[in-house]
Amino acid sequence: MAEEAPTKTIQVEEVITVGDLAGKLDIPATALITELMKNGVMATVNEKIDFDTAEIVTGEIDPSIKVEKKAAEEKKHVQREKREVSDKAVDRPPVIAVMGHVDHGKTSLLDAIREADVAAGEAGGITQHISAYQITHSDRVMTFLDTPGHEAFAALRQHGADLTDVAVIVVAADDGVKPQTKEAIRFAQNSGVKMVVAMNKMDKPGADANRVKQELSDNGLLTEEWGGDTIVVEVSATKKTGIDKLLDMILLVADVEELKAEVEGIPAEGIIIEAHKEQGRGAVATALVEHGKLTPGSLIVAGGAYAKIRTLETTTGKTIKEAGPSTPVTISGFKTLPRFGDVFVAQKNEKEARKLAEANAQKENDGRLDMSSTELIAMIDKQREQQAFNVIIKSDVQGSLKSVVDSLATLENKEVIARVVGKGVGDISESDVMMAASSGATIYGFSVELPISIKKLAAREGVRIRTYKVIYELIDDVKDNMSELLAPEIVENEAGRLLVKGVFMIGRNQVICGGEITKGKITPGLVAKVTRDKEEIAEAELTKVQKQQSEVKEAVEGDMCGIELKTDKRVVVEEGDRIEFVSREVVSRSL
Ligand code: GDP
Repeated sequence: MAEEAPTKTIQVEEVITVGDLAGKLDIPATALITELMKNGVMATVNEKIDFDTAEIVTGEIDPSIKVEKKAAEEKKHVQREKREVSDKAVDRPPVIAVMGHVDHGKTSLLDAIREADVAAGEAGGITQHISAYQITHSDRVMTFLDTPGHEAFAALRQHGADLTDVAVIVVAADDGVKPQTKEAIRFAQNSGVKMVVAMNKMDKPGADANRVKQELSDNGLLTEEWGGDTIVVEVSATKKTGIDKLLDMILLVADVEELKAEVEGIPAEGIIIEAHKEQGRGAVATALVEHGKLTPGSLIVAGGAYAKIRTLETTTGKTIKEAGPSTPVTISGFKTLPRFGDVFVAQKNEKEARKLAEANAQKENDGRLDMSSTELIAMIDKQREQQAFNVIIKSDVQGSLKSVVDSLATLENKEVIARVVGKGVGDISESDVMMAASSGATIYGFSVELPISIKKLAAREGVRIRTYKVIYELIDDVKDNMSELLAPEIVENEAGRLLVKGVFMIGRNQVICGGEITKGKITPGLVAKVTRDKEEIAEAELTKVQKQQSEVKEAVEGDMCGIELKTDKRVVVEEGDRIEFVSREVVSRSL
């Protein structure tokens, strides 16, 4: 039979909003949203989906409709390439990140270096989002990135390391190398960043420098005194000892390579390291300049956001007239929030800047547009077998939002996934609750407010909202919820073994035989696995154990005994067979 010819053709650009596609298909947007959801794509009316997704979902709604691609105009996108520096390049300050296990003293050390006290005011005592500052030491300027401490911030730190010339690995002398220490070392190694180890808390009675050095060498960092090339500086952040030496060593390591940057004749470029909204100032971002110079009035595009710089300040709030390479600056003037990790590039003219930002924004759209049809199909296939715990994430700043989302992605395994159906910066809103209600999601707020009216609405809609100030507590809660979705595991414990020495009776559902217990202990109720030549031939239940003609509760290694097995088919047990007895228990699992 001939294939049915398409009855209708619609034209779709590379991207299309859900509302527009619904219009072209002549169906209500809600019907399209539902169909998309079935396919694991969570999108609201105004959100955009890509051509391939549109084609797939249309095919499911009405296979007779043909979807044709309409050529879209060419779009420019900011590309990040490592810049080759010319001979006009100038020296620039080194950029240093401090990394290590939680509570090993990163914040205290950064404080000691900066001689200011921020640790006191932090929720949970953990550095919550990246910022940066500069100091002068031995007449040299050094830029420190204040990278967050907990493993949940792995993603941020990863970026931290990428921006970094030298990584200071903080390890507490009384605690040694811990998982996040290893992770930090790995990050630094992977991104080719040089390391200096700050062995902190040397003032503590439990400090054991040698043990820590041993652990460091077990992780590939052999100290100089042991013949390696890793510099380890013993410090105490609280007693402020060893800090000068640490700074000297950082400079020494940084100077191995010439750190250069272009300043003149090129547009400024760098990376957004933090962004948030501020009352009265709008979107405020912290950026690290890599090349060129920023001045008030500069036009910059960072991903889908652009700014005509209104105020240019140091991260400590001092107004400055220009910022050159390796300078962290706070910028206001963004029309929308740029994203953490976005590259920024200065533009000459405002119209161009706006167009470029718009084009970027369209491309980005939460990464949804980057999903090809094959990826989508793979995702759908995976989700058929995977249980999903749907979440909506709201966070105070882009950096922490990205951290939460990235951390959640690492929880995924074959069986369960934390599926982020919505995310954003800002307080939990009515539309978040409505979206949660329609997608069965739990809303997680990180360092954001939960207005009382929203709380009431959520209660009415049966939507769960959880707010946290400490990121790993948030992640732990998601983990617990995901664990509940895991199918329980059946665990087998070996109890004992028996060598069959005589078979007395074989019935349809019963075997009575005797033998010697060669290992462990057997008791009625255990599962019996009958094996011959190491191969399992049948499984049965141990119903009775007899010693010298009388029934007993157990028989142990060395005992000769008789046993009765209940089988679900006729099992011909023979002399010489071995029976393995196991107990089975159902245990709930956790991630
Ligand atoms: P972070 O989680 O790595 O940022 O660690 P913090 O800087 O918040 O420090 C964790 C705890 O260790 C705090 O109670 C600090 O006071 C303490 N601490 C940090 N450095 C030292 C040190 O050199 N000596 C001692 N005795 N305590 C320290």
